[in-house]
Amino acid sequence: MEIRDFYYHLMVEGADEFAIIMLDPEGRVASWNRGAERITGYTREEILGQFISRLFPPEDVWQHEQELRQARTEGRGAHEGWYLRKDGRRFWGSGVVTPIRDTDGRLAGFSKIMRDITDRKRFEDQLAHKARELANINAELEQFAAVVSHDLRSPLLAIAGCAQLLREQFAEQLAGEGAELISMIQDGVNRMGLIIKDLLAFARATPARDRVEEVDMNEVLSKALSDLNEPVAESGAVITHDPLPRVMGNANQLGQVLNNLIGNAIKYRSGEPPRIHVSAGERERDWEFSVRDNGIGIDPAHFERIFAIFQRLHEDGRYAGSGVGLAICKKIVEHHQGRIWLDSQPGRGSTFFFTVPKQTDGPGI
Ligand code: ADP
Repeated sequence: MEIRDFYYHLMVEGADEFAIIMLDPEGRVASWNRGAERITGYTREEILGQFISRLFPPEDVWQHEQELRQARTEGRGAHEGWYLRKDGRRFWGSGVVTPIRDTDGRLAGFSKIMRDITDRKRFEDQLAHKARELANINAELEQFAAVVSHDLRSPLLAIAGCAQLLREQFAEQLAGEGAELISMIQDGVNRMGLIIKDLLAFARATPARDRVEEVDMNEVLSKALSDLNEPVAESGAVITHDPLPRVMGNANQLGQVLNNLIGNAIKYRSGEPPRIHVSAGERERDWEFSVRDNGIGIDPAHFERIFAIFQRLHEDGRYAGSGVGLAICKKIVEHHQGRIWLDSQPGRGSTFFFTVPKQTDGPGI
């Protein structure tokens, strides 16, 4: 054996992660390394001279024939699929076949290099299965929230109507404490209406609902600001912004994020008129947006909690709201494969940050 062949032999034998197989032009096994023995369970003595097609489940033999045909005509054949081991168990193999030609260009056989990637395949199947399950659960939840909020709305409207009638028609009898109780009913009804509306908005912030495209964040911001006209005017808020970039995303949903963050910056203002600044910084893989305010600020102990649904730091009725806004922001930003967080100190204002990747895989959104 020449020294070069010796090293070649060592390499082929040593690579026991890979089956390295030589076939004759008809597809019979001409050489079989240790990797092939390990992966398939056949020893070299058992398999030499046998057709390699015996490694394929009967229903997939045509794929093997196609792999050889492809190698002959295109110079390379590839196959990924189930193979049969000697003991009848199956493994998922991935490999390539290359033709070997003699000096006259005649087909002398094939080389086939293959790996057992059953574990990876199982893992991918499980992931795909989980992803389908999650998508189904999400769809069910969305439907559930829509139905529940629709069904809750009708009795709520009936209660609101009755309270209004009581107030109008029994005003005299209900003076004083009675009127106060009716006001409490009406407040409760209004609050419940808001929670139902927000819950529905949360359920609707789902990936599949809206399309992803290139969006101009300057336009998204203008639209969000025009929706906030009233609170901006009422509070005397001054809102400034840097030039904003174009990103891949859903304009509607990103608008909702800005709307919630700026709406909060106005709502949780301190004694002074709100000063709010929206900016964007380019980083290697994403854009980082921020909304900075000079409001009441937040204790760092609550940074995590406020992104969970229905979590509020002021339950005493000073500020209207249901604690869903930031949960919606988080859901939307994560659908865009970004992150959301904040920096704040009580009495010193808050800055909310979120990122939007420059490249998105699409289906996640
Ligand atoms: P909501 O405003 O309806 O309560 P959010 O989910 O938008 O719900 O916010 C959750 C909580 O986080 C708020 O109740 C408030 O306590 C706090 N918060 C949010 N944004 C700000 C902000 N800009 N400044 C101070 N506190 C804030």
